[in-house]
Amino acid sequence: MMNYYPYFQLAPVLFGRGVAGQTGEVVKKLGCGNALLVTDPGVAAVGAAETVRAALAAAGVAVTVWDQAQMDCPEQTVRDAAAVARAQKVDCVVGVGGGSVLDTAKAVAAVSVNGDGVLGEMPLYLAGQKQYAVPPLAVIEVPTTSGTRSQSTFVAVVTSDALDCKIGLPVHPAYGVVDPLLTRTVPQDITAYTGMDAFSHANEALTEQKASRHSDLLAYEAIRLIRDDLPMAIADGSNMEARENLAFASNIAGISFNESGTHIGHSIAHALGHVYHLPHGVCCANVTPAVIAFTARTYPEKMKKLGELMGAVFSSDAPAEIGRAAAKAVREFAARVGGPTFRQLGLDEEKVLAVRDAVWNDALAHAYGGSFTLEDVEQMLLDTLG
Ligand code: NAD
Repeated sequence: MMNYYPYFQLAPVLFGRGVAGQTGEVVKKLGCGNALLVTDPGVAAVGAAETVRAALAAAGVAVTVWDQAQMDCPEQTVRDAAAVARAQKVDCVVGVGGGSVLDTAKAVAAVSVNGDGVLGEMPLYLAGQKQYAVPPLAVIEVPTTSGTRSQSTFVAVVTSDALDCKIGLPVHPAYGVVDPLLTRTVPQDITAYTGMDAFSHANEALTEQKASRHSDLLAYEAIRLIRDDLPMAIADGSNMEARENLAFASNIAGISFNESGTHIGHSIAHALGHVYHLPHGVCCANVTPAVIAFTARTYPEKMKKLGELMGAVFSSDAPAEIGRAAAKAVREFAARVGGPTFRQLGLDEEKVLAVRDAVWNDALAHAYGGSFTLEDVEQMLLDTLG
């Protein structure tokens, strides 16, 4: 852990049941009046996009709805939406949806005013070697899942054509409007895997290089809430107390990992998700126990605390034992909330090891707050199979 650290929250968040109805006031307060509302067909079908569109219109904000966002934010969708944003001369982008939509909204905010060329140079923007010529439009994010918390993080995760993988494009949100009522329609399977995505953010934030007392505090509390409320929300999707706690948990996990970060787990999840076309949260659920078993070597106290929260029983305080028992408890939790295992999805030793070099060469993996070798990556990949 660093001896000194900043703590902050990237953007203000309006949180609570029904606050989606105030999105128009939020947009106006930011000085905007002509919005592109970005969403996807699934979110449009359950009425969440219409709730926000109506709120914007009621506040006198002009709105153009673009509902063609796709899973994992392919580049072409950003180009398509950015063209609409330019044609309508919008002054802000409102994302209403899960992480894929929120990331699309962020990317559109940068690309619409700086040109499609931004998409070909994402690594330079991510590394801080290139700055936007024009500041991105204001982005107001209205999440409808309790997973990514893109509204609290500094990047849009975009699937790059040139790199054939996911990469972060830095775009700061201007405001988050987190209304747990919008998550009520999330189906059981997506509730499970978005919850495990949030869990993975909290877990990795504990052991990234920039982890601090502040980011740790948020991460442990997120884990505690997910432990209690994810099974309840899966058992009864209309349990609004559980939904609200999950929305809060995923939001504070997002703040925690924006301050600290994610690392090897997300690098593995991105690589496997991309190659085998698996939902991000499903990858996180399978990868997280493997990461816990490994990071306990360097961070036994933190992984013991995480394990205790998850009901692990330790036979000794040896780091390997802490890692084994904490990983087992989290693997059992993931099984209980019902996500498929990698083996059930057809992955085997050869398939997981195929992404070994991609993970090793990924800068994100090396944000881990400890050392590791290529052999460690191999072991973690094998451990994802349970
Ligand atoms: P998602 O946005 O891909 O959505 C999954 C499905 O859920 C879609 O079919 C969508 O229509 C549906 N859905 C969303 N809300 C719904 C609702 N209320 N009711 C019914 N259906 C609903 O899923 P996600 O897990 O939220 O996001 C995953 C993406 O987020 C990945 O691309 C990942 O890379 C990205 N991500 C970004 C960050 C970041 O910091 N920017 C962090 C983590 C993950």
